[in-house]
Amino acid sequence: MVLIWIGIAVGILIAVILLVKVVKTPSYEAVTMNVHCKKCGYKTNGLKCPRCEKNTSFSSKFR
Ligand SMILES: [Zn+2]
Repeated sequence: MVLIWIGIAVGILIAVILLVKVVKTPSYEAVTMNVHCKKCGYKTNGLKCPRCEKNTSFSSKFR
């Protein structure tokens, strides 16, 4: 019986730790911050902003 309770306690503890990690780490905000360009807010999926780079290259070409 004791082993079962220990198992349940460990399971709850792991679940709580995972929950706290998920809640504490602002993964969603970090992702959104990385996903969107800092300058124009265009969705870049963590890559360099194609809009800003295009704009700069286009403007340099057109001007
Ligand atoms: Zn941009």
